[in-house]
Amino acid sequence: MVHTIVGANWGDEGKGKVTDLLAEKSDVVVRFQGGANAGHTIINEYGKFALHLLPSGVFHQNVVNVIGPGVALNIEALLSELDSLTSRGVPMPKLLISDRCQVMMPYHIDFDKFEEERLGKSAFGSTKSGIAPFYSDKFAKVGIQVCQLYDRDILRKRLEIALVKKNCLLEHLYHKPAIDIDALMEKLAALAEKIRPMVCDTTLFLHKANQEGKVILLEGQLGSLRDPDHGIYPYTTSSSPLAGFGCVGAGVSPRDMTDIYCVTKAYSSCVGAGPFVTRLEGDEGDELRRRGGDAGEFGATTGRARDVGWFDAVATRYGVMVQGATEVVLTNLDVLGYLDEIPVCVAYELNGERITDFPATPLLEKCKPVYEKLPGWKCDIRGVKSYDELPENCRKYVEYIEKACGAPIRMVSNGPRRDEILYR
Ligand code: GDP
Repeated sequence: MVHTIVGANWGDEGKGKVTDLLAEKSDVVVRFQGGANAGHTIINEYGKFALHLLPSGVFHQNVVNVIGPGVALNIEALLSELDSLTSRGVPMPKLLISDRCQVMMPYHIDFDKFEEERLGKSAFGSTKSGIAPFYSDKFAKVGIQVCQLYDRDILRKRLEIALVKKNCLLEHLYHKPAIDIDALMEKLAALAEKIRPMVCDTTLFLHKANQEGKVILLEGQLGSLRDPDHGIYPYTTSSSPLAGFGCVGAGVSPRDMTDIYCVTKAYSSCVGAGPFVTRLEGDEGDELRRRGGDAGEFGATTGRARDVGWFDAVATRYGVMVQGATEVVLTNLDVLGYLDEIPVCVAYELNGERITDFPATPLLEKCKPVYEKLPGWKCDIRGVKSYDELPENCRKYVEYIEKACGAPIRMVSNGPRRDEILYR
């Protein structure tokens, strides 16, 4: 049985908390795409953690965590993340790495930086963690799989092929020093030894786990609108954060996928470049940003201030649809307790017309939000233990959003901690 947790929007919806919560009842947690470019915030009995590459099941000793073949594996980042957990008292998690997973190379990170510098003002808001150059190489078939790290002849041949082009670009386009293949080989050999005990055929492992009736949880990074095909291209990421891609990037059968949990916030937040229709400027935005999340809306990986805005029903309904969600998880509801009235974006105005379907990027860039206002509940709902105890206006807000999303909301999060969750 395979469950999937994904984001409905631009990322940072609170997936980490939900995964940490559902991991308790799971046997395996799998990352299936992306790399160390985004972060999940988890607050539990060990403290507050920002996970970038590790699956969010790492705090549970009963869980086997898997880095699937669809992930961009930065080995150094992975090792330092493991260190940061164990040095704070978290027991060493069980972790498996796909032998088919590809390796984030130091030059991918360099090229990401050089390219953003070159693009200047027209850059796409990359986190500069190498993701776009990594996936470009993967699909151009000049990437390096983990299994290739353990055969020096193969590795050298693969690197020689890749480096011809890289060094040409370094010299002539970016005016930077060339890559030394020998030094790179040594570095990779040392890193490969460190992860050797974790490397295996994870696809086979997951297949067997599924046959044994284990519960497998796939954990998506970012959200629907960052999907290269269905999102706000080119302000997207370079791998698909959609549940549908989960079966490919993790290595499970689509026939076994059952519950798809699509996480969304009670307001909007978006980090990075690209159109964001409900973006709030000025004091209104500053206040929501300051009150949002567990310590304000700032990126878990980059520390960048996130843009914030009111709930966008047009974007979220679309995000929920492309995820194929079986249910929606609504997070950060507690954040809105300070408002007399809460605006919700119910439509966009495009060239004088009202539209309710999420358009492609060139039209989206011209859209203005159309708001409806819902009455606020004007109190702090943290500490409330059951859904029925929420103030009436708060429940009405949830019901309104549920209708707007087109999928049932069964879980509502009323605080950043693991136990702050209400079931409907
Ligand atoms: P992810 O990438 O989807 O896992 O999301 P992030 O962890 O980057 O961002 C979610 C932010 O919201 C983090 O700061 C969380 O600690 C916080 N958070 C999650 N759920 C809640 C909630 O219900 N209320 C509040 N106030 N913060 C929450």
